[in-house]
Amino acid sequence: MDKKIAIHNQRLVVPDKPVIPFIEGDGIGKDISHPSQRVLDAAVEKAYGSQRKLIWKEVLAGQKAFRETGSYLPNETLEAFREYLVGIKGPLETPVGGGIRSLNVALRQTLDLYVCLRPVRWFKGVPSPIRYPELVDLHIFRENTEDIYAGIEFMAGEEQTQKFYDFLVKEMGVTTQIRFPKSSSFGVKPVSKDGSERLIRAAIQYAIERQLPSVTLVHKGNIMKFTEGAFKNWGYDLAEKEFGGQVFTWRQYQQIESGKGLLDAKKALEQAQHDRKVILKDVITDAFLQESLLHPYDHSVIATLNLNGDYISDQLAAMVGGIGISPGANINYDSGYAIFEATHGTAPTIAGTGKANPSSLILSGVMMLEYLGWNEAAEHIFDAMEHTFAKRRVTSDLHAMMEGATLLSTTEFADEIIRNI
Ligand code: NAD
Repeated sequence: MDKKIAIHNQRLVVPDKPVIPFIEGDGIGKDISHPSQRVLDAAVEKAYGSQRKLIWKEVLAGQKAFRETGSYLPNETLEAFREYLVGIKGPLETPVGGGIRSLNVALRQTLDLYVCLRPVRWFKGVPSPIRYPELVDLHIFRENTEDIYAGIEFMAGEEQTQKFYDFLVKEMGVTTQIRFPKSSSFGVKPVSKDGSERLIRAAIQYAIERQLPSVTLVHKGNIMKFTEGAFKNWGYDLAEKEFGGQVFTWRQYQQIESGKGLLDAKKALEQAQHDRKVILKDVITDAFLQESLLHPYDHSVIATLNLNGDYISDQLAAMVGGIGISPGANINYDSGYAIFEATHGTAPTIAGTGKANPSSLILSGVMMLEYLGWNEAAEHIFDAMEHTFAKRRVTSDLHAMMEGATLLSTTEFADEIIRNI
């Protein structure tokens, strides 16, 4: 029987025993990888008995790959993710002087994983710096392939940089905007219509499928009009063109308000909410960082560009318990390629000490189960984690912030979850 996940007409076809390539990861990757797999296996077994099973296949990347093959990211690893479509990884150290800017970026670019999806929810009992963490239920869609992260940069003082400056002045007529021409570095921020549309389309589809109330486009379009501002406008255009019957946009609200008045606009919004349409709105990034702290319940799915998404996901993660419990995924919804990953790094100072919290990788695995449509197994893990946190049995990162908690090692914590499944 074929054990490869496939995609037909943009739908995943998942065999009962799919092969899942995994990268163990550097640093704490070794500590959290195996315990996380045991948790996923236990949940799948509880949900489906012997009918379904994840077949783990280790592929190499990072230090382990370098030791065994002389390459930080062997071709076989990329090929395995291509062949099996869906995989999972632990954190990878960025090699210094290895000729690779970042292994994570290389994986994302090679497979064109354009969505970085980070759900943010709170588990009862987990310490939070905000007053009502139970109201946080957000899903961040961060664009993963464009923006200032494209890596087009020129260092001050270099010959190329002078050329770039000359081009701006002589060919493009840029005159007064560069305050210190001799000592300026430059970065280029590509943001395309195609790239913005595919990200926003995926966010809207996700909201529709999960019956979530809204999608917020977060941007800095008041200042960067042709990149961030265009992202917003392309988003509204796309929503109205492709999702007409299922989405009501803030732009439509404003059009009704200016044509027929506030009362009619409010009525149209109420009708759309009654019809369970997804409300598409937009917020400027700085305002969003405030608003999401003060009124997180006003937002649900967030669609944003690469840099904004980086900042936003760390703030939101901190609101619900921090980096040790923040899952993530990099997905191409067209080809089906997906790599699920803990969003934290290799935490070298605690590697091998039993202090690492495996929750972020376990919850990334939960996202993977949901992506495969194995929702029953995913639910079992959610419930077991909720139970474990509520009983205040936690790893050292959370233990330090919780009164009366019991300290568990990485493995003991995974065992506790398995017992509660
Ligand atoms: P880090 O995430 O490794 O550590 C930041 C802090 O969080 C540290 O105090 C660490 O001990 C703590 N921490 C992280 N994960 C934890 C967990 N699961 N449980 C308990 N505590 C945890 O960030 P860093 O120190 O900036 O980066 C270290 C290395 O990781 C660098 O080489 C960096 O390039 C790499 N990195 C990789 C990824 C990835 O693979 N996705 C992401 C970020 C950083």
